[in-house]
Amino acid sequence: KRVISTQIQEEDLKIEKSLRPQTLSEYIGQEKAKENLKVYIEAAKNRGESLDHVLFYGPPGLGKTTLAGIIANEMGVHMKVTSGPAIAKPGEMAAILSNLQEGDLLFVDEIHRLNRQVEEVLYPAMEDYAIDIMMGKGASARSIRLDLPKFTLVGATTRAGLLSAPLRDRFGVVHHLEFYTPEELKVIIRHSAIILGVEIDEKGALELARRSRGTPRLANRLLKRVRDFAEVKYDGKINEEVAAFALDLLEVDKLGLDTNDRNILYTIIEKFNGGPVGLDTLAAAIGEDSGTIEDVYEPYLVKNGFINRTPKGRVATDFAYHHFGIAKP
Ligand code: ADP
Repeated sequence: KRVISTQIQEEDLKIEKSLRPQTLSEYIGQEKAKENLKVYIEAAKNRGESLDHVLFYGPPGLGKTTLAGIIANEMGVHMKVTSGPAIAKPGEMAAILSNLQEGDLLFVDEIHRLNRQVEEVLYPAMEDYAIDIMMGKGASARSIRLDLPKFTLVGATTRAGLLSAPLRDRFGVVHHLEFYTPEELKVIIRHSAIILGVEIDEKGALELARRSRGTPRLANRLLKRVRDFAEVKYDGKINEEVAAFALDLLEVDKLGLDTNDRNILYTIIEKFNGGPVGLDTLAAAIGEDSGTIEDVYEPYLVKNGFINRTPKGRVATDFAYHHFGIAKP
């Protein structure tokens, strides 16, 4: 199992709940999203209305679910959680919607994976707080409109472009979550360390932060792994040396790349002469799903200047050659 995978793993579930910030002021980073949400939440509360529907998009582990929980908390409403792949039939979506209480927040993770018929139930629900139910069959079939309580839909997806236009258009608020800076991750790590009861110094936290791919989920996971090393091999405290030693053993390099990231870059450099290489060709060459490359690995590699996306395909940058110490042909 990939240590550095930003996708949620079983071990995360156990601790993530305790590490999740509960209020906007405890939520580190994403300043723009936070600032806007603060205004919208206050305005909705003052008017005694539910918040407009919100869409968060960005790579996994950046805090979309956490923000949804915070919105519910700040609005003083309940949050119901579901996900795109979990809802197979329109009737299931209708049942979830009609069970909501006034003001409730419905969080739909991986909302781009809702199937078409299920998605269509959401259109009138989001727009008019109503669902249309078909009664009877054939010539005598007619649809009945059922009113729903006013609710807020919060959707999360790895890429906004994966959503159908009619669904995307029904969100009043759309926010892209960004990778975190090492400084921001450092604050998150130090806070998590307090909750986990492990001692970590400034430099140790920064070393971990630099190697966490800008992703809080990963920062928390690596913190736990490094804590294990610190307890077994050292005196239990995490400093720069302990963090570096443990992360080297976990094969997370100085810039947060792991074996899969390096594999992607090596393949572009060695097999495809640095590119350009099309996404599908690249995916086939390394035996990985092209969607996973695009949503999970690539954003970080592009953001940090290892890969350029060109109309002809992916290209390894000079920086990538330099990082591996390979001379550019
Ligand atoms: P996503 O829904 O985008 O995949 P999550 O909301 O599940 O990501 O975040 C993963 C974990 O990272 C959370 O459990 C939380 O502990 C931590 N986290 C995310 N964003 C923040 C943040 N801004 N401040 C502190 N911790 C965060």
